[in-house]
Amino acid sequence: MSTHLHRPPTYAARRSSATAHTKIVATIGPASEDRIGELVDAGMSVARINLSHGTPDDFLRRVEKIRAVADERAAAVGILTDIQGPKMRMGRFEGGRREVEVGEVLILREGKGLSATGEVVFEFTGFQEAVQPGHRVLLADGQVELVAEDVEAGAIRARVTRPGAIGDRKGVHFPDSAVRYELPTQEDRANLELSRRAGVDFIGISFVSRKEEVRAVRALCPEALMIAKIERMAALENLDDILAEADGVMVARGDLGVEAELEQLPLIQKSILAASVRSGKFAITATEMLESMIESSRPTRAEVTDVANAVLDGSDAVMLSAETAVGQFPVEAVATMSRIARAVETSQRYRDIARPSFRAAEFNFSNAAAMAAVQAAEALRIPKIVCFTETGNTVRLISRYRPSAEVIGLTPHQRVVNSMTILAHVRPFLVRRERSLEDMIAMASEMLVLRDLAQYGDPIVFVAGVPAGVARSTNVVKLHRIGEEVRLH
Ligand code: PGA
Ligand code: MN
Repeated sequence: MSTHLHRPPTYAARRSSATAHTKIVATIGPASEDRIGELVDAGMSVARINLSHGTPDDFLRRVEKIRAVADERAAAVGILTDIQGPKMRMGRFEGGRREVEVGEVLILREGKGLSATGEVVFEFTGFQEAVQPGHRVLLADGQVELVAEDVEAGAIRARVTRPGAIGDRKGVHFPDSAVRYELPTQEDRANLELSRRAGVDFIGISFVSRKEEVRAVRALCPEALMIAKIERMAALENLDDILAEADGVMVARGDLGVEAELEQLPLIQKSILAASVRSGKFAITATEMLESMIESSRPTRAEVTDVANAVLDGSDAVMLSAETAVGQFPVEAVATMSRIARAVETSQRYRDIARPSFRAAEFNFSNAAAMAAVQAAEALRIPKIVCFTETGNTVRLISRYRPSAEVIGLTPHQRVVNSMTILAHVRPFLVRRERSLEDMIAMASEMLVLRDLAQYGDPIVFVAGVPAGVARSTNVVKLHRIGEEVRLH
């Protein structure tokens, strides 16, 4: 097949397309499920389905639509499903909501159905033993704060210290109490089985606090990559352990902003992202990133700055939730995010970001090869690092160094293609398996030229494991000029 390479190029290589290196995760909901193609064209590379909302039928229909769009466009689109975990929610209120005032005393009890006047019903159990007088209880995702005064007959008597509106099925938090819970829950187990059968690529695990929980979820959906959503104080304490067990993390600022003091969020975000860089794992920054775009076609200055800072802090991906799930401008929100990321990525400041050191991530051949490839590409200003991968692991490590070069991830497994959609700086492609290094390089060269990603004579850094087909076997870094014959013996 290498004879094809001696044909002169028939068209000039264009600059690779204007997609951002930072990946965009967009949540699919009623506002976007029939506009998935437009979201992909605007720059979405991972579609998220939040299993806290919608029915199993909604889920399966959306998965099908996402896969159909990906096929039709021959685009790599990953699917992330979030399991709800032990999210604690209130029951319902007459009329859907109620105002509570400072000093008002409420009885908090376990139950189902409507809350009577003077009480709030919780649809979960286990809080009665954990809450002690003086502990805070946060209702409606932190809008309203109460302090427990008394626990009697399995119910808590609490006084409102921060007033506001509480509404149907809003979240409840106990920042001071060690409430016992299980993760995965019964509902999560059913959703994981659904996700496994649908072949989703990533599972977002809500409310993780220990690595064992990640392991338990992985066992139920073993083919997917595990994303630990960091949204509990306990998860921050166990962050290094969780990072060692998970494939990536999400800075889940919504619930995290309830558990932690709001003003701590910016620094917590930076430390989670720094820890993900050190451990060589990928990271998503999420929640309210372009919140005003739910109703407006343009974001606020503060939101633009937030997205840019998340990119500078080392996020592989930035995420949209309600903006794309239920907002009025889902496509504009993705396009806006993409433009902000691109503006940052072309700056000197972005190029100056400190790169992780070799010992920071995995201490093995793969990471040594990743680092060598990045350094060679930097030194020679080579614009493409081409990596053959069985698992995506070496590509993730290369990505974590945020090379100036674009990383072309080649794999014979569709699942691994999809799993690379979350990695910054990476473009994944499905290729057939070649056994020898010569054939791999010839095939990749042809592909790069045919897709306008490189021209004859361009230098390339190749990273691979030979013999092919073995996971965790990366052992070759080769500098190569496209079109030159490869002779190893
Ligand atoms: P959620 O997670 O949207 O599933 O709650 C993200 C967050 O809490 O920020
Ligand atoms: Mn959350």
